[in-house]
Amino acid sequence: MTASSPSRPRLLLILPSTTYRAAAFIEAAGRLDLDLTIGSDHRSTLAAAQPARLLALDFGSAEAIAGVVRDFHARHPLTGVLGVSDETAIVAAIASEAIGVPHNSVDACRAAGDKHRQRVLLTREGLKVPPFIRLSFEDDLAAFAATAHYPCVVKPTRLSMSRGVMRADDPAGLVVAVQRLRAMLAEPGTAKACGDAAGQFLVEQFIPGTEVALEGVLTRGGLRVLALFDKPDPLDGPFFAETIYATPSRLPANLQEEVAACVERSARALGLTRGPVHAELRLNEDGPWLIELAARPIGGRCSAVLRFGEDGSVSLEELLLKAQLEGWRIGELERESTAVAVMMIPVEKAGTLAAVRGADEARRVPWVDDVVITAHPGQELVPLPEGSHYLGFIYAWAEDPETATQAVRDAHAKLEVELA
Ligand code: ADP
Repeated sequence: MTASSPSRPRLLLILPSTTYRAAAFIEAAGRLDLDLTIGSDHRSTLAAAQPARLLALDFGSAEAIAGVVRDFHARHPLTGVLGVSDETAIVAAIASEAIGVPHNSVDACRAAGDKHRQRVLLTREGLKVPPFIRLSFEDDLAAFAATAHYPCVVKPTRLSMSRGVMRADDPAGLVVAVQRLRAMLAEPGTAKACGDAAGQFLVEQFIPGTEVALEGVLTRGGLRVLALFDKPDPLDGPFFAETIYATPSRLPANLQEEVAACVERSARALGLTRGPVHAELRLNEDGPWLIELAARPIGGRCSAVLRFGEDGSVSLEELLLKAQLEGWRIGELERESTAVAVMMIPVEKAGTLAAVRGADEARRVPWVDDVVITAHPGQELVPLPEGSHYLGFIYAWAEDPETATQAVRDAHAKLEVELA
């Protein structure tokens, strides 16, 4: 272990139990000349060898997290704590509270990670969210289905990446969707991740319209929008694979402002005051509808499309670490002026992956910067609504978002997925 300089700030970055792209944060910490400690709930032999760099935390116990972080802070004073997922945002809030560094409250982070609690709080504050009801798998579903309004959306109260989110157009479809969700939530890994929430689900009104995603940071001055993404593929169900994000958005400026105002009010309604937020909104003649607000940045590999500064040399990770160190002030940094699109390559068919062919050809499509296949041969591919992995990612930078979007579509068309 190298002893850290007392003058260098130290940040605790909490990473999820699932794999996450830590490299971008480690690189960013190097550029910012700060010491980074990675906290995770993996007990690793490496942690003992590098006690200032790795910290094992039991994510299941708030008391244990607070105790371990307090001890660590006494030996290696921390300037801040950052979480990067729904779960680790809560852990980061607990850790921050224990050592008295500024952060969102634990309650606010928990509310953001619970789709039902979120709906309740936003409705209470008069925000426009889809009308919803929470049901238990023990309720009389046939009776409910007979009187429900259609189309509707069935979803779990936890989970992310559209897992378990299904549209139903009639009573029979609703019953099938709920049974499918029940089976999914009974699977041991998912049941453990959802805890008490595994016995419940939401039924919401289906909100038609186009969809956008907002990436932002809550600062002392309010919401700072880092990027507004259009989602050019229709998201009408029955399942809701994300596929393409493109920015800058083509929405008229006044609508972009409405979207940002809606996200800012929603964050406030949940009690969030600082740090990264990622929101999904639907837009129709009634204006923006908040579908979901998360107290975390955009998921791992998609963050690569966000580059800041005139030459695009500042990554989202660097911006977030810097903002955290400066008390959530991010100065003048703006996203680079180039347009960009990313495709999260959806799994379309279930099976064992033999190979993904055509990646080199896809990379040669004009404007395409990279094609990253993250699924590996031998991996069991599971499509939505049960699946939780993409095949990979396609990135394109161009002069306008339409060109970038077409480029990722053309590159995708070159890929061939071979199942064993
Ligand atoms: P997750 O957190 O798993 O992504 P969301 O609640 O954000 O779950 O839903 C995933 C996607 O499903 C949304 O981005 C949207 O496309 C679609 N969706 C969810 N709820 C609704 C709704 N009430 N009306 C229309 N589409 C919805």
